Amino acid sequence: MSLEVEKEKKNDNILVSTLSMMRQAIDFANLSPDVYEHLKTPMRFVEVGIPVEMEDGSTKVFTGYRCQHNNVFGPYKGGLRYHPDVTSDSIKALSMWMTLKCSLVGVPFGGGKGAIVCDSQRLTLKERERMTRSYVRSLGSILGPEIDIPAPDIFTDAQVMAWIADEYSNNMREPSFGVVTGKPLAVGGCVGRNEATGRGCFFVAREAAQAYKIPFENSRIAIQGFGNVGSNAAKLFAAEGCPVIAVSDISGGVYKEEGLDIDKLIRHVNETGFVKGFSGGEAISNENLLSVNCDILLPAALENQITGSNAHDIKAKIVVEAANGPTTPEADQILKENNILVVPDILANSGGVTVSYFEWVQNNYGFSWDLSTVNKHLQDKMVEAFRNVYGYYCENCIGSDMRTGAYMYSIMRLAEAMHYRGWLRNGIYA
Ligand code: GLU
Repeated sequence: MSLEVEKEKKNDNILVSTLSMMRQAIDFANLSPDVYEHLKTPMRFVEVGIPVEMEDGSTKVFTGYRCQHNNVFGPYKGGLRYHPDVTSDSIKALSMWMTLKCSLVGVPFGGGKGAIVCDSQRLTLKERERMTRSYVRSLGSILGPEIDIPAPDIFTDAQVMAWIADEYSNNMREPSFGVVTGKPLAVGGCVGRNEATGRGCFFVAREAAQAYKIPFENSRIAIQGFGNVGSNAAKLFAAEGCPVIAVSDISGGVYKEEGLDIDKLIRHVNETGFVKGFSGGEAISNENLLSVNCDILLPAALENQITGSNAHDIKAKIVVEAANGPTTPEADQILKENNILVVPDILANSGGVTVSYFEWVQNNYGFSWDLSTVNKHLQDKMVEAFRNVYGYYCENCIGSDMRTGAYMYSIMRLAEAMHYRGWLRNGIYA
């Protein structure tokens, strides 16, 4: 069995489930089958070998991908991920979610995603830099501020974005920092971008609690994953008086009935690298985190975490998908039967790309907004997106789930744009 096939077997294939979800949404919305024809295949998918000179003098060639799914709304947009478990199918699915996400939240971008298959934490800083620059040399011709704009994702950060901006600008022989978002402030970054995905999840959770008639204040929060998204969301919940009672990462978790001290936990993670060993709560396993008695659960780690085998144990009333694709289709069904509201990823975590859009706009204008302007615009966008999607779901999808509603709402908008661009010769509807 090839490594690729092995990895696909390990995880539920998210490309297969995404395609089936898109097809179902298109059928429910009575849209033309041509819409599915356009969405089922990325417009471009590129795989490259990325040669890197390692510290010991050897050369290692890593596999890199960039998937440009659809650009009916504007330049392709989406993160660049460094992870050993990445497969070509997972990158295709992730790029499709970006198309749906941008459409849903109303930013004028298409969907893209890229990755390098690597264990990035084992690389030295120099190796990471060389690998990133090599990726840009291999793929730079299909990137650009009006073509395709990467951003941070799992195990990539503002520094990686700065290397991309620099390498791309060198190749173009002019500063062209709008080629990436999520940059450091010193080279055209946007205040609040780093926290934006977590902040967006917080706004959406507050809206969901209101829609579901659960008092938001004092609601108990559990968060799986304590990277950028999980930790920033935790800070906001705690500051708003919502006790964060459990948190976990790959090393394990911690639990405290009255709420964890999030600032202390962040200090501990910064010092040790992991949640494990934090003295301000009792140790729990990653698996137990999902089943703690809480009001709102945020899966903020990787794909396929809530599955047919653990979904029955979830006690939260609302699941806010801070990560991309954390819930399998089988788990979706169980959560629906148990009357648990799942706020789908393409809505819940769209705060990141929303502030990426703000950054790109500022780069285009050579102007920068202050933090309160960024956060205010983010809040407006997230609240509007939640209300639009929830309203659409309540009107059109009763008996189904909010994910189906979000897909339908998003694909309707894509279909409208395709229609006006002349891509649907037989009309929008079936
Ligand atoms: N990687 C993030 C996502 O999955 C952000 C993408 C972006 O800002 O372009 O939404």
